[in-house]
Amino acid sequence: MSSHSHDPHILCPHCDLLVTLPTLKYGQKANCPRCKSTLTMRWQEPRRRPVGYALSALFMLILANMFSFVNMNVKGLTSEITLIQIPKVLVADNYASMASLFMVVVQLIPAFCMLAIIMLCLPVRLPGRWNIRIAWILFHLKAWCMVEIFLAGVLVSFVKLIAYGEVGIGTSFIPYVLFCLLQVRAFQCTDRLWLWQQVSPAPAIHQPLKVGQSGLSQGLRSCECCMAILPVKQQVCSRCGSKGHARKKHSLQWTMALLVTSVMLYIPANLLPIMITQALGTKFTSTIMAGVVLLWGEGSYPIAMVIFIASIMVPSLKMLAIAWLCWDAKSSKKVDRERLHVVYEMVEFVGRWSMIDVFVIAVLSALVRMGQLMSIYPDIGALLFALVVILTMFAANTFDPRLIWDRSGTFENKEKFDDGQ
Ligand SMILES: [Zn+2]
Ligand SMILES: [Zn+2]
Repeated sequence: MSSHSHDPHILCPHCDLLVTLPTLKYGQKANCPRCKSTLTMRWQEPRRRPVGYALSALFMLILANMFSFVNMNVKGLTSEITLIQIPKVLVADNYASMASLFMVVVQLIPAFCMLAIIMLCLPVRLPGRWNIRIAWILFHLKAWCMVEIFLAGVLVSFVKLIAYGEVGIGTSFIPYVLFCLLQVRAFQCTDRLWLWQQVSPAPAIHQPLKVGQSGLSQGLRSCECCMAILPVKQQVCSRCGSKGHARKKHSLQWTMALLVTSVMLYIPANLLPIMITQALGTKFTSTIMAGVVLLWGEGSYPIAMVIFIASIMVPSLKMLAIAWLCWDAKSSKKVDRERLHVVYEMVEFVGRWSMIDVFVIAVLSALVRMGQLMSIYPDIGALLFALVVILTMFAANTFDPRLIWDRSGTFENKEKFDDGQ
């Protein structure tokens, strides 16, 4: 029978269509002919490239933690912070939860992911099933790398502070920007399909495959973690050990439960203050909306727009979109699936960016500590808001996008392939 050294078939993780992967040229990517999501991309030097980027990223991260990150000067008083001081200040203010969140998504997870990419791409075999475990963790943690969002938060804080004093960047700032770019690039050129094939070959399938039909109609499912094609009856993947079903179990119930919880938290997150500003003896609190109004009033229109879109529009639209997806997956009406899929992709992509305001508060409260002159502290609203973002991210994660396509039957145009650049 066939040796399956390279499995040319794949079940689209977004719409469950069985597709034959064409032989790709370097730099070419294969898109799903039905839902248009990218299935895989072929890179030149799939080993050396990610390792190079990941190694340089780690080196930059070390540099970024060694020196001062940003500084501020108000009327002769200077305040300077390093990256590591940001969580320390938050812990001192009894916001240990926000400090840990910050440490985890801005430093620990990205650093771990870079290490994981290096270990997996180098042709070394770790003892036991360590390679598989590391790959499993890598692909589960990827969405929680928020380096670029933090960096955007730092820039927004700069604009907010310009009105009060001089802000400047420290020696560590440029290395952190480079770390951000390099880690994005390292993720980009790590091909999931190729990497899993290196870690362990895909399990063989002992039944004929019907290209252009859904996996479900043939009794097949795609492993959510390693993308191997498995019989529906087999609940534990023989390659990566992930447990799974043909469709995420109780997907709609979970999504709805998380959604309702996040809506309930979203109301107080908007009404309660997110930070306390103490300046020259006066103390005032501000909510998310008040922050936007203040920025707008000061004439920083683009930043006011960014914060308004990221903190108010995106979370509300995201909740509406998730509710719409759940409602549609249940109804039997015929809808434009492609448009619905675009909604899903957008929800997945933009959701993390709402975290920007939380990072702004973290930076502001760490940097602006000048006693009576001016001090900024986080407040309960910020914590609630962070929770809302995390919950909606989980809600989007528990939603199974394949439910959108399940009622559409076979796909006619099975031979056509989209070749992107
Ligand atoms: Zn698809
Ligand atoms: Zn698997």
